Amino acid sequence: MRRAPLLFFLPFLLFGCAPAEPPVFSGARAYEILKEYCALGPRVPGSEAHRQAASFIAARLEKLPLRVKLQPFTYYDSLKRDSVRFVNIIAAFQPERKKRILLCTHWESRPYADGEKDSALHRQPILGANDGGSGVAILLALAELLGEKDSKIGVDLVFFDGEDYGPEGVLSQYLIGSKYFAKNAGSYWAEYGILLDMVGDSDLTIYQEQYSTLFAGKIVQKVFARARKLGLSAFVPEIRHAVMDDHLSLLDVGLPVIDLIDFDYPFWHTLADRPEACSPKSLEQVGRLLVSLLYEPE
Ligand SMILES: [Zn+2]
Repeated sequence: MRRAPLLFFLPFLLFGCAPAEPPVFSGARAYEILKEYCALGPRVPGSEAHRQAASFIAARLEKLPLRVKLQPFTYYDSLKRDSVRFVNIIAAFQPERKKRILLCTHWESRPYADGEKDSALHRQPILGANDGGSGVAILLALAELLGEKDSKIGVDLVFFDGEDYGPEGVLSQYLIGSKYFAKNAGSYWAEYGILLDMVGDSDLTIYQEQYSTLFAGKIVQKVFARARKLGLSAFVPEIRHAVMDDHLSLLDVGLPVIDLIDFDYPFWHTLADRPEACSPKSLEQVGRLLVSLLYEPE
C-alpha cells in the first residue's frame, strides 16, 4: 500500500472543515406570509383579529422544533378605564445554548390612522402591513429555515404586543409588551439583539438609528458591515432618526438591542399601510442579512 499524497486528501479536508452552507431566505415566502397575516384585518388589542393574529403566529411556531411560550398579561388603560389583554409570544431555538441572539418585532397594529391628512380618519385602525406585519413575516419565514437547518447558536424570536397602542403623545401607552418582557426577563441574556420594525416597504432605506448607535454602537457597526458585504443596498451606513421603539425597553435592562427601521415610510400610521406598499425584495434583503448573521456569526 502506498501513502497517498497529501493533495489527494485535501478536497476532503476542506469539505470537512467548511461550515454548512447557510439556507436561502425567500422574500416571496415572507411576502406570502405577510399577505395571509394581513388578511386577518387590523390587529388592534381587544379585537377578534388580535386574538386570531396571536394564534396565527403561535400555530406556525409550534409546528417547528422549538420551545414556544406565551406571555399573557392584563394592562389597565387609564384613559379608557378598562383592562386590555396583551400577549407576547416567545420562541426559543436550542434553549440550552449559552450563546444566543435575540430577534424581535411587534406584532399588533395601531388603533389610530393618525398619520392620515383627513382627521376624520384618525379613529380608524391601521392594517399595519409594514408597521408590525413586516417583522412578523420575516421572523416566521426565518423560523421555517431554522427549523430545517440548525444555525449552531441559540436563537430567540420575540413578538411584542402593544408597541403602538397609545394615542398620539401618550408616551406611557407605547412599548407596552416590550416593557413587560424586559421587566420579567430575569437572568435572560443574549449576546445582542435586533428589532425589526417597518422593514418591508417597497422603497426600503434603513439608516442607523440614533439610540442604537449610542447604546449598542458595536452591534450597529457589525450589522451594517455585514449588509455591505452582502451587497444589500437598502442599508445606508449613515445615522439618521432617533426612534422611540421596543429596543429602548431592552436597552433599559442592559440588553444590547438595535432597531432596524425605515422611518421615512410615506404610509406610516395611515390606511395605506397595506401589503401592496411592501415588496418581497425588501423583505428578502432583511431576511438575507439575518440568515448571514445567524449562520456565519463571525
Ligand atoms: Zn407604528
